[in-house]
Amino acid sequence: MSESCIFCRIIRGEIPSYKIYEDERTLAFLDINPSAPGHTLIIPKAHVTRVEDLSEEDAEALFRTLHRLVGGIQDAMEVPSSTIGINNGPESGQEVPHVHIHIIPRTRGDRGGIMQGLVRTTGRPSGEAMLDIAERIRERVG
Ligand SMILES: [Zn+2]
Repeated sequence: MSESCIFCRIIRGEIPSYKIYEDERTLAFLDINPSAPGHTLIIPKAHVTRVEDLSEEDAEALFRTLHRLVGGIQDAMEVPSSTIGINNGPESGQEVPHVHIHIIPRTRGDRGGIMQGLVRTTGRPSGEAMLDIAERIRERVG
């Protein structure tokens, strides 16, 4: 828990929220500044800033809650699709330093983009460069 974190304050009930779902480890509520109707946030109840710092239990619980909610959100908003994303760190646009998954209901013609369109810092790398990148990552996650 963090004293000043807005999401921790929502968990403690100090700030009201439009709650969707709650269990032992996670809470889901409507984003107060929605990109589309039904835009929902899922957070761990533990105050953790970044995905890589979540416990395995909280990581599992977050995806379990996502899996549980996404179909119902789409049904309720009468949309066929959603974009699911996490801004992980300030350079990615994370505004609240408490892990949160966005579920944004999507419809054809909503003028939204795709996740891969958020950033374009590279052209198409060579096969050699791809092998090097894959090796560098493997060395750190093995
Ligand atoms: Zn927090």
